[in-house]
Amino acid sequence: METKKISSILRIVFLGAPGSGKGTQSTLLSKKLNLVHISTGEMLRAEMAASTPIGNEVRNIMDAGHLVPDKTIIELLRKYLSTLNPQQGFVLDGFPRTVVQAKALDDLLNDIKRPLSHILELSVDEGTILGRIRQRAESGSGRSDDNDEIAANRYKVFMEQTMPVIQFYQSSNRLKKVDGLGSVEEVQKHILGALGR
Ligand code: AMP
Repeated sequence: METKKISSILRIVFLGAPGSGKGTQSTLLSKKLNLVHISTGEMLRAEMAASTPIGNEVRNIMDAGHLVPDKTIIELLRKYLSTLNPQQGFVLDGFPRTVVQAKALDDLLNDIKRPLSHILELSVDEGTILGRIRQRAESGSGRSDDNDEIAANRYKVFMEQTMPVIQFYQSSNRLKKVDGLGSVEEVQKHILGALGR
């Protein structure tokens, strides 16, 4: 009985390139299914806005579109997860971005016997991604890391450091690919379908 209850809690990792729609979709999903939306990018931006030691440490790194050190982000996430009610489902957006982070996440969650329930990759072809990134940079999203050159760098970082995360989950048959093409509503349906909802 207890096992059944635990296994019905959604603990989702949501992977996708910058510009794949991962931020929009994970926000919508969390509202729809009453999950906590954990965005490590948002956490870091909040640290920067409050000029905390972590915020000051990561400012230049983030503004250049690089990844902040694994140790820093893993510790930030560990602290956050320790405050979360274990019965609360969540969707992780922007973490893990390296294989080191993916392994640390497995360890953190296995320690508390709350493993991930779903690992989704929002899959969008490269041409569409690059077009969306350019559009976002041109329209000025207000994010300090959203200009053309930095956006291109974030995509490069994704290909080099986060693609191996996708392969890491794929090699153990844990990854579900979701078609990220279509309207926001259509893509949301694909995601809900992948979750069996
Ligand atoms: P995002 O809002 O997810 O696009 O993240 C914005 C920026 O925050 C990234 O370009 C990185 O500089 C940093 N960041 C967010 N999450 C992570 C992470 N898991 N590992 C390293 N850096 C991260």
